[in-house]
Amino acid sequence: MDCDVIVVGVGLAGLVAAAELEDAGKSVIIVDQENEYNIGGQAFWSFGGLLFAGSPVQRRLGIRDSRDLVWQDWLGSAGFDREEDHWPRLWAEAYVDFAAGEKRSWLHQQGVRFFPIVG
Ligand SMILES: Cc1cc2nc3c(=O)[nH]c(=O)nc-3n(C[C@H](O)[C@H](O)[C@H](O)COP(=O)(O)OP(=O)(O)OC[C@H]3O[C@@H](n4cnc5c(N)ncnc54)[C@H](O)[C@@H]3O)c2cc1C
Repeated sequence: MDCDVIVVGVGLAGLVAAAELEDAGKSVIIVDQENEYNIGGQAFWSFGGLLFAGSPVQRRLGIRDSRDLVWQDWLGSAGFDREEDHWPRLWAEAYVDFAAGEKRSWLHQQGVRFFPIVG
């Protein structure tokens, strides 16, 4: 078998990486330690809740939310006050930007539809 990229792990991270690579015209092989009946990593067991910030669904349900509120919430529990928190903090902030921005439309583009139960 020949390919441009081998992705190790069929969890969400691996699947998103593979989807982005495919969209960029690369051929991808994904491998996992699990067999074909147990793919998806932790997402297989997850509750399926998705973090959005200030999304249209929240607005429709009358929920006041925003990128800044989510970020304050995350800072309040994570702290990010140690030197080794530098990269986690940058990652978290990028993720909040994603949740307030293109996350919903990107997932929609991938064929994901949402059931609006707010947790
Ligand atoms: C019970 C439960 C409920 C959850 N509910 C939610 C929720 O409601 N909302 C939410 O946002 N998140 C939820 N989460 C968290 C979310 O599911 C995970 O953060 C996410 O799925 C992690 O994805 P990942 O790709 O980073 O890692 P993983 O899903 O852990 O994927 C890693 C993959 O790599 C494979 N692998 C590891 N090592 C090797 C190796 N050496 N060789 C080959 N393959 C390997 C593993 O088998 C696995 O398939 C929940 C998690 C659990 C367990």
